[in-house]
Amino acid sequence: MSQETTLILFKPDAVTKSLVGQVLARFEAAGLKIRGVKMLRFSDALLQEHYAHIASKPFFPEVQQFMQQTPVIALALAGENVVARVRDLLGPTDSKKAAKGTVRGDFGVDVMVNVCHASDSLENAAIELKRFFSAGELF
Ligand code: ADP
Repeated sequence: MSQETTLILFKPDAVTKSLVGQVLARFEAAGLKIRGVKMLRFSDALLQEHYAHIASKPFFPEVQQFMQQTPVIALALAGENVVARVRDLLGPTDSKKAAKGTVRGDFGVDVMVNVCHASDSLENAAIELKRFFSAGELF
């Protein structure tokens, strides 16, 4: 299988609890390679765009408040089958259902406070990478 790239966001809980290095070390230990990294604050517009699929949900204002608490760190990560492998390393969205040994099982709190976002398909990865990185920012 060819190299793929996915988009990871370290959410405010990861930034606040200084979990970024530990989680990144897991990705690197799995052989995945960094292609780009940046820190940014979510504007209202970027948040609406990134979370368009949950914008009508009753919990969206809570997600909005959480994701804007601190800047987030965006990571472009490459490797074979990287979309599925990263989601396996993270565990399910709901941290309470995530097994120990997964990132969310070890460090997550609940369904919202779950350490990282990761693209859920190659198609969405391409869209999300463009949302956070210009071509010249990926190596
Ligand atoms: P994922 O981020 O794992 O792809 P979703 O796309 O389903 O998961 O949800 C996007 C984000 O919305 C989640 O990461 C989480 O932050 C938030 N979210 C999803 N469901 C809930 C919920 N029931 N309550 C609060 N936040 C939620």
